[in-house]
Amino acid sequence: MIQYLNVSKKYDGDIIAIDDITFQIDEGEFLFLVGSSGSGKTTVIRLLIREEKPTSGKIYFEDAEVTNLKRKHIYNLRRKVGVIFQDFKLIPELTAYENIAFAMEAAGRNDKEIQDKVPYLLEIVGLENRFKSFPYQLSGGEKQRVAIARAMANNPKLLIADEPTGNLDPDSAWDILQILSKINSWGTTVIMSTHESDFVNTLHKRVLKLENGKIIRDDKKGNYFEDLDEFSIKILQKDSDEAVKVEVPLEKEVLVDKVEPEIEVKKPTPKKKKDKKNDLDEKELLAKAKKIDISEIKFSAKVKKILLTEGYETLADIMESGIGKISEIKGLNDSEIKRIAKVITTFVNNL
Ligand code: ADP
Ligand code: MG
Repeated sequence: MIQYLNVSKKYDGDIIAIDDITFQIDEGEFLFLVGSSGSGKTTVIRLLIREEKPTSGKIYFEDAEVTNLKRKHIYNLRRKVGVIFQDFKLIPELTAYENIAFAMEAAGRNDKEIQDKVPYLLEIVGLENRFKSFPYQLSGGEKQRVAIARAMANNPKLLIADEPTGNLDPDSAWDILQILSKINSWGTTVIMSTHESDFVNTLHKRVLKLENGKIIRDDKKGNYFEDLDEFSIKILQKDSDEAVKVEVPLEKEVLVDKVEPEIEVKKPTPKKKKDKKNDLDEKELLAKAKKIDISEIKFSAKVKKILLTEGYETLADIMESGIGKISEIKGLNDSEIKRIAKVITTFVNNL
């Protein structure tokens, strides 16, 4: 499914972040990417979703050569990938429900799909009674669970979690691991990076270890124990029965196509819309959004200026990069980000 071929990444000033790595990930795998801080984990991930290009080497995702993709195909690639981060990146003004709904709207899903699916996603991550909570009302672990639900909202084939437990206490970290593991068991390929290399053993998954940008270990069963730190010991000692009870999905088909879940499905499922239709919708949506210049949109002069300076020319550019990226642009405040989000939502809903 994913292949890195002799990939290296150098940054200015002769920093070698990644040094000639070659490996592949099969569909359905759960891969822990471990290594101390600065070993290159985030760079490996950023190269895969084309936030960066390698200095040399090639990366393939399914049939596409990621390192060679044109802009519109980068959007297609990112549509197949859900990403979560250490700092959650939720939109502060939106509730748990709205954060997820927004990701679906931006991908062109209709109201019916959203109303059906958001509660289901929140249930998977054990937050069925927190629909209306804003991020500031949630604990770190809960915020990360919303982020996972959001990342899964558009049925990605691959879920990437970059140090998702980095800001969490051991109990919450364990919950997150359980949820990612469960999602993987339904068929989604999962890559999770962590510098807490030891607790990965609890899951007996493949472990790829980086040091100074090189792969120094690729262990199919994750069976190694070395210098256990306090955090890891606590996790290892934890009785796994205590782990968060992740509710069984109502709709097995929502998360993955074709792959049967290992667990029983409780409720009958409404038929999921075919992906082909969604593909068409999205193409159409983007084509239309391309015709709307930033300058025509009712943004303040300041917002227009910032977006244009950042290289955004049309509404399609904004949609392609996603609100997560937009919210990282320096100089935009929360209400301006929300306004941009609102414009996309309105556009999608009125098409
Ligand atoms: P990790 O995620 O394992 O902590 P990173 O992939 O973030 O490691 O970083 C690997 C190396 O590359 C580090 O030495 C880091 O300082 C360097 N690096 C990462 N991003 C950049 C960048 N944008 N510019 C310069 N150096 C970078
Ligand atoms: Mg990192």
